[in-house]
Amino acid sequence: MSNPAEHYDAIVIGSGFGGLYALHHLRDQLGLNVRAFDGAGGVGGTWWYNRYPGARVDAPSSPFYAYTFSQEMVDEWEWTETQSGQPTILKYLEHFAERFDLLKDIQFETWVVDARYDEAAQHWLIETDSGQTLSAQFLVCAVGALFVTNKPDYPGIDDFAGDCYHTGRWPHEEVSFSGKRVGVIGTGSSGIQAIPEIAKEAEHVTVFQRTPQYSLPARNRPLSKEDLARYREEWDDLRTSMRRRGGWPFSTSRLRASEASPEERRARYEKLWDEGGIHLSINSYVGVLSDAELNDEVSEFVRDKIRETVTDADTAAKLLPDYYFGTKRLILDNGYFETYNRDNVALVDLRSEPIEAFTAEGLRTKNNEHEIDVLVLATGFDAVSGSMLNLNPKGRGGVSLKEKWDDRFDNYLGATIAGFPNLFMIHGPGAPGVFFTMPLGGELTASWIGGCIQHMRDAKLGSVEASEEAEGIWDAEINGIANRTLYPQTKSWYMGANIPGKPRQFLGHLRGSHYFDRLTEVAEAGYEGFTFEPASGEVR
Ligand code: NAP
Repeated sequence: MSNPAEHYDAIVIGSGFGGLYALHHLRDQLGLNVRAFDGAGGVGGTWWYNRYPGARVDAPSSPFYAYTFSQEMVDEWEWTETQSGQPTILKYLEHFAERFDLLKDIQFETWVVDARYDEAAQHWLIETDSGQTLSAQFLVCAVGALFVTNKPDYPGIDDFAGDCYHTGRWPHEEVSFSGKRVGVIGTGSSGIQAIPEIAKEAEHVTVFQRTPQYSLPARNRPLSKEDLARYREEWDDLRTSMRRRGGWPFSTSRLRASEASPEERRARYEKLWDEGGIHLSINSYVGVLSDAELNDEVSEFVRDKIRETVTDADTAAKLLPDYYFGTKRLILDNGYFETYNRDNVALVDLRSEPIEAFTAEGLRTKNNEHEIDVLVLATGFDAVSGSMLNLNPKGRGGVSLKEKWDDRFDNYLGATIAGFPNLFMIHGPGAPGVFFTMPLGGELTASWIGGCIQHMRDAKLGSVEASEEAEGIWDAEINGIANRTLYPQTKSWYMGANIPGKPRQFLGHLRGSHYFDRLTEVAEAGYEGFTFEPASGEVR
C-alpha cells in the first residue's frame, strides 16, 4: 500500500443507522476529523439494500426504531404507521444525513478493499476500490449485521434463465411480477414479508420452505397524532426506559405461568395475539424463552392459530413449526398464513421434497418439475461475523481477521478484537444487535467508542487493544447467558447454523440493557480488559 495522502482521526465504514450516528458523534460531538465510506449508492445500510416488496420494520412502534438522542429529530419527524415500510425508514435516514450535514463526509459507491494496522505509526491504512489510500488512527466498522447474502448452492442454480433476485440485494428499479410464475426460497422475516405482496401480483407463487416459522400478526396500523404527541412529550423518559428495558419502552411480563390456570393462560395468549406484534413473546409469562414446558404451550397456541387460519389441512400441517417458539427470530407478518388460502399460492416442503437441481426453466424437486419465470431468494445472510470477514482487516503482525476467526469469533464486548488495535465494531458478534433496538444500540455503542477515543486523546495514548484474556471472559459471559435459555437448542442464524461450515457460536448478547451497563462499567474501571500504548509520536 502506498503512502497515504489523506489522514483522518477516524474512518467509519458503513452508513446505516450505526455508521451515520458514529460519523455524527465523532465529528460533531467530539470534533474529530472523520471520513466515511459506503459501497452502496446512498445512506441506509440494510434499508438501502432490503427494498423487496413488503419490507417493513418489525419493531413494536416506529418512533422507537429511530434515533433517540435528538429531541429535535423526534419532534420534526412524522411517523405515520406503527410499523413503517422500508421507503419511509430510508427517507428518515436520508433526512438525518442531510439534517446533520453528513453527506459531505461520506464517499458512496466506494468499497474499502484493504485495511491494515501499521503498528509503528499506530494507525490504520485503508485502500479503496477506486485506488485511494488513506490512514486513520481509528477504524470504526459499522458494516452491518445482516449484509453478506447467503445464496444457496443448488446444482445448476446459475443455469436458471429467468430473473433472480435476493431480498437482501433487491433492485432499485421496479420489479413486476404481473403474469409471472414466481418461486420463492426462504421463509424467514424477509420471505414472510415478501410472499403476501408478491402473491397479490403474480400469476402463481410457489414457496419452497425448509423450516416452518412462528410468525405473529404485526397488526400494523396508523399511528395516532395523540400517540405521537405523547411520545414527543415524554421522550426523555421513554428513552431512559428503552435503555433500561432491552431496547423498547415497554414493560415485560412478571406474571408466573404456574399461578394461572390453563384457561387463564390461554385467554392471555389470545389477548396478546389480538394485540399483535411481539407481545405474545414478551408479555405472556416469565420464562417463555427458557422454560421448555411453558414454551411448548405457547408454541402449540401458535400452531393452533396456523391450523385455524390455513384452510387446506395438508398445507397447514406443512406450516407448523416444530422447534421452540421464539428461538429463531420471531416474525411479524401482514397476512402471511392467509396467503396460503389463495388459489395462486402453493407450498413445497423441502424437508420431504428436497430440491434436486435447477434448470433453465425452473427447478426439479424430488417429485416434481416446477417451471418458474422469476426466482426470489429470501435465503438470509452470513449474519454478524460475515460482513467483518468480508472486510477482513489485517491486525498486528499482518494477521488477518479470517485467520483469527477461523474457528471462533473471539472478541471483547462485541466491539473490539485482540490483535486489532484501534478497531471498533458496531453490532459485532456478541453485541446485542437484533436483540436490542438496532438504532439505539448503534447510538450507545458509538458513544462508548467516542468515550474511549476521548479518553485516549486526553491521556495522549496511541493505541487501545483488547486482551485475549478479556476475550475469553467475555465469551464465557455471553454464552453463559445464552445457555440459560432455549436459543442454543435451535438451528438458527443466531447460532451460525444457516451457513454451511460456519462455526457454531451464539452471535448475540441476550441482555441488551445489561450489555450497555457492562460497557459503562468497563470504561469506569479504566477500560478494564484493554491495554493502551502511549502515542509513539505526534498523534496525527
Ligand atoms: P433468515 O431469517 O435467515 O431466513 C432465511 C430463510 O431461507 C429461512 O427460511 C431458511 O431456512 C431459508 N434457507 C436458507 N438457505 C436455504 C437453502 N439452501 N435452501 C432452502 N431454504 C434455505 O433470513 P431473512 O429472512 O433475510 O432474515 C434475516 C434477519 O434479518 C431476520 O432474522 C431479522 O433479524 C432481519 N430482518 C428483519 C426484518 C424486519 O422486519 N425488520 C425483515 C427482514 C429481515 P432455514 O430456516 O431452514 O434455515
